[in-house]
Amino acid sequence: MDNQPDILRYQRDRSLADVPGFSVGLQLRLPDNTKVYLALGPAEFTLTFSDDIALHYDLQGRFTKFVTLADYHRRSLSGKILHTTKSEGIRREIVADDSIIERARERVLRVLEAFSGGRCSVSATGGKGDDGASPSGIEFARPENAPELFRPLLELAAHFDIAASHADAASFRALYRDVAILPPDQYNALVFQATEGCAYHGCLFCDFYRDRSFRAKTPEEFVAHVDAVVAFHGKTHRNSIFLGEANALMLPHETLMEMLRIIHDKFRFCFGSGSRMGVPPVSSGNPPSRTGETPVPLFTGIASFVDTFTRRPDFAALAQLGLSRIYVGMETGSDELLRWLRKPATAESVVATVTAAKAAGTSVGVIVLLGAGGERFAEAHVRETVRVLNALPLGKGDYIYFSPLVVKPGSAYDAPLLSPEQIRNQEQEIRAGLQIFPKPYVARYEVEAFVY
Ligand code: SF4
Repeated sequence: MDNQPDILRYQRDRSLADVPGFSVGLQLRLPDNTKVYLALGPAEFTLTFSDDIALHYDLQGRFTKFVTLADYHRRSLSGKILHTTKSEGIRREIVADDSIIERARERVLRVLEAFSGGRCSVSATGGKGDDGASPSGIEFARPENAPELFRPLLELAAHFDIAASHADAASFRALYRDVAILPPDQYNALVFQATEGCAYHGCLFCDFYRDRSFRAKTPEEFVAHVDAVVAFHGKTHRNSIFLGEANALMLPHETLMEMLRIIHDKFRFCFGSGSRMGVPPVSSGNPPSRTGETPVPLFTGIASFVDTFTRRPDFAALAQLGLSRIYVGMETGSDELLRWLRKPATAESVVATVTAAKAAGTSVGVIVLLGAGGERFAEAHVRETVRVLNALPLGKGDYIYFSPLVVKPGSAYDAPLLSPEQIRNQEQEIRAGLQIFPKPYVARYEVEAFVY
């Protein structure tokens, strides 16, 4: 098998060792002269075609992404298709049409047919060679093993048609019903729902959990849920754990400790090591490595939303069992606006909760609701939000998210909305008032684009 490291344009100036996250590659030239590059990573494999289309599949053969130079379609585990276009700024939309799955599958079938029938020229690359490890620490497979690694994956992908996608989404719904929202840095978390829905349900602007009642799982139910989640995800690249849904941390202390103990005993963590490298849960296995060993599973911690108006958790005790980050929907620093929004928190309760979490060594993400209360509250919203954010003990490793208000049809929120420009200005005014050093990470949080 000869090496032809540059049959695709994007690969011309780099070898597989320069492409982070992949352990082995295979280059094909199909009978019609189409060139295809297959790459295998710890949680997915990709097919990149010489007409600049790339397909992504997870190691269970689920279609996950169809990428062109202008746009991409991403299938979430829930079966939703998120279409992102890149021209004239980034636009994201959840589309009803899932024919993209068939378009991807047709390409996979072409490759599989040529590959299995020996009707294509094949060459493999193994990065730095037999002794090499990739820059990301992922072990390379031996190039000569590549065809046998890819064949079963292509067969799995070839079976993933629209019907299979619908069946898989039904399994997801049986497991989760839905994952309504996660903080942006947790989009790739492994989600375990200790509770379902929101215990309060009353905030004027929030529609995330309107379709379900609040319910806490029993520890026995939670064990079964965790096992089922692990089985559903299979080999996953998810490297943090999110305890859902809206107020899991308000569970009675002993119940919550038991839930965290269940997670803590099943998974391995790399707290404080600074490592962002995540590998699969113990029971999920891994792609075959060069040595045939299963890599040690590692997660960076457990995260959860917390409200500031029910029981305040014992953060120190929870941190001992892996709670490493909480997210507080502060919305605004203005108590008057909070009352108008029907959120039973106060600036003081937010400060107290964040201070307690930080004292326990837990990092914090604070979410500000841009546009809340419209023009009527705009001045107080900016002034008080700046004041409270600056009073919080935030720093490096913490997050401030600016989330523009989204009002869905039928929402109880019926006040006039700010324009996109006014929202941008409000964000800039709050950002300009921040005096927090060292700076936390500050970013937008667009809830409309969320799919899991
Ligand atoms: S904002 Fe939070 S507390 Fe309020 S209804 Fe939504 S999930 Fe519940």
